[in-house]
Amino acid sequence: MAHFPSSSNRSPWRAKVVTLFPAMFPGPLSASVVGGALGAGIWSLDAIDLRTFGLGRHRTVDDHPAGGGAGMVLRCDVIAAAVDAAAAEAADLPRIYVSPRGEPLTQRLASELAAGPGMIVLAGRFEGVDERVLEARGLREVSIGDYVLSGGELAAMVMIDACVRLLPGVIGSQDSLGEESFAAGLLEYPQYTRPREWEERAIPEVLLSGDHKRIAAWRRDKAELLTRQRRPDLMGRRSR
Ligand code: SAM
Repeated sequence: MAHFPSSSNRSPWRAKVVTLFPAMFPGPLSASVVGGALGAGIWSLDAIDLRTFGLGRHRTVDDHPAGGGAGMVLRCDVIAAAVDAAAAEAADLPRIYVSPRGEPLTQRLASELAAGPGMIVLAGRFEGVDERVLEARGLREVSIGDYVLSGGELAAMVMIDACVRLLPGVIGSQDSLGEESFAAGLLEYPQYTRPREWEERAIPEVLLSGDHKRIAAWRRDKAELLTRQRRPDLMGRRSR
């Protein structure tokens, strides 16, 4: 098991990923604010190698699908052993199986998970996992979008990143979190910075006015307009 420990006194938010490819971790999670927070001990990461729970001399983790068909399926007994090991000292952590069949990952779900003690994430491979282990080990299926990846590791990283950046102390200004896309059920308004004029395109005058009320109203209007144009489904959910 690869362990990326916490160096802080406060108990960290814990991510435990069960994977056939532990060497993929921390990978991109070691960069920028999320990587800094890992180093600072705000969160910790264990990449648990599913292969070490494999059966026999070849540490087999998969078998042919019952009923026939293409590909291989990860065995329920092997996954159960790995999830049980992950949960041994972390019985309080919610258990997630990243899966294209799952409920969509949303900002609300990321906030819920970030407010808890962490999570155990099972990353699937091949055709997926034996259905029985999902119920037997209480694994909640979560999807990162309507497309199929070759494995769950990138999906696990997406989930971890979305949660970790919400932890206190990870992002310098907590105010910026409240104004981001989805925070208030809207997409974010357009952002600008220097230079004031670029390729004959000027920063909207209102943003240079210093009038905070007008700026806030402009941003709210733009956020509503963009959301209506691009994601009318979000506007619908807001009014409910
Ligand atoms: N046969 C599966 C199906 O049609 O639903 C797809 C298996 S996929 C090739 C292998 C693994 O990638 C899955 O077990 C899952 O862990 C992960 N995965 C693929 N797409 C995903 C998505 N959109 N969200 C989360 N995990 C995904």
